[in-house]
Amino acid sequence: MVPKFDFHVHTLYSDGSSSPELVLETALTRGLEAVALTDHGPGLSVGADSPKLLQLSEEVRRMREESGFRILGGVESNISPDGTLDLEEKILRQLDLVTAGVHYLNSKECRAQAGEYLRAVREALRSRAFRILVHPLYYNKSLLPWIAREELEEFVEELAEAEVAVELNSKYRAPDREFLQECLRRGVKLSVGTDAHHPEEVGAVEWQLTLLRRLGAEREDLILDFL
Ligand SMILES: [Zn+2]
Ligand SMILES: [Zn+2]
Repeated sequence: MVPKFDFHVHTLYSDGSSSPELVLETALTRGLEAVALTDHGPGLSVGADSPKLLQLSEEVRRMREESGFRILGGVESNISPDGTLDLEEKILRQLDLVTAGVHYLNSKECRAQAGEYLRAVREALRSRAFRILVHPLYYNKSLLPWIAREELEEFVEELAEAEVAVELNSKYRAPDREFLQECLRRGVKLSVGTDAHHPEEVGAVEWQLTLLRRLGAEREDLILDFL
């Protein structure tokens, strides 16, 4: 059985429309095992600054204690083209779950974007500061067609070494199956995220569950029990 969880949800703390309480309520109604609030960091104009993220994390800790439900307070940090994250490590260490993703690149052309994307993430992996790569290999569309097989294998190897999981993101339907198969082969854990910005999207993980079943993924292939 593939467990139901959602490790990518935005709230009023950044550009989402749900309060943390409403996310918890929805997660309970939908029968999730766990949910993580991952608002944007300050690298995006809509993002939250460090004090706000620490406040969210504190609010979530109280909610977790009161409800007994596994709700995590985290962030979706932005990986800039030079591979730096938009928050200091001393802040990231205080959060339950640090996820990171690429939201802007300098290159205009697809092949150049794919190269720039890989360089940025590989540099970011060296920080050992995040646990999940969100909407992987996605920038306006899948970048996979512009990545050579050997390059892809090397990238997955580096994800495995850094113990960074890759997300199945239903908002962008990313990443491609071929990439996920390579991740499973090399022991990279998988995560499930809706990228919900509205309450009705929280925990709507049918696309991910179907794909995970087709890939033959088991509970131990998921990041859920390894945080
Ligand atoms: Zn994102
Ligand atoms: Zn997001």
